Amino acid sequence: MEKLVREAQELFNVHITGRQVMSLITYEKELLAWNQKFNLTAIRDSESIRTKHFLDSFSCVLAWQANPPASLIDVGTGAGFPGLALKILYPNLKLALVDSVGKKAMFCQHIVSALGLNDVSVIQARAEDLGHNKNHREAYDWAVARAVANLNVLSEYLLPLVKVGGTALAQKGETARAEAKSAGKAIKLLGGKLRELIPVKLPDVEDDRYLVLVDKVAATPEKYPRKAGIPAKQAL
Ligand code: SAM
Repeated sequence: MEKLVREAQELFNVHITGRQVMSLITYEKELLAWNQKFNLTAIRDSESIRTKHFLDSFSCVLAWQANPPASLIDVGTGAGFPGLALKILYPNLKLALVDSVGKKAMFCQHIVSALGLNDVSVIQARAEDLGHNKNHREAYDWAVARAVANLNVLSEYLLPLVKVGGTALAQKGETARAEAKSAGKAIKLLGGKLRELIPVKLPDVEDDRYLVLVDKVAATPEKYPRKAGIPAKQAL
């Protein structure tokens, strides 16, 4: 873990305390163990978990610098990335983790209990349904997602959940620029405005990575998100 601690500091100016290291060790151990039984993530060795899950999740801090959000929703969180890794860094964060798959939500809940984390709700649901739930619609400062859908589809998952004045953050690979361009219409329809792409370079990872930031500048029209499954089939 020393390497992860050093790289987080050097790359993202993130200071990880001894207690947070203990939490990351538990998280990693449980992820490796659960992966034997359920297929939670394709990344299956400690070294890759540290770089491709923990460090990559930590890169989100580049988006908010000294001003971490008070509330954040992670859509399609899978085994908790990036949301749960960020919660370990920011214990005061009010966090919602969403995934439509039961075993993934179950694993996230297991980690929340094992680490004794407060203010985390784990929700097994489709993003499209949550976007019409009054407890979640336009309720979050930030909505984040990694590896869930193309940006035109993802915008319909994320932007309805973000407060006006908040931001949606998509962690993307080399297609980020092209996706941002082709999602222009969807972003505008949903009340968003593309702010910027922040490049991220991870050690020993070839691909360029980007944080795509979309500000919520207007309320999302009531008809969005469309019914579960439609955004992916008929992207805006
Ligand atoms: N974000 C995690 C990561 O980067 O490791 C998981 C990525 S995994 C490739 C995509 C996840 O998104 C899956 O767990 C899937 O169940 C979830 N997902 C896809 N579409 C969704 C939707 N419309 N609502 C909720 N979850 C969704």
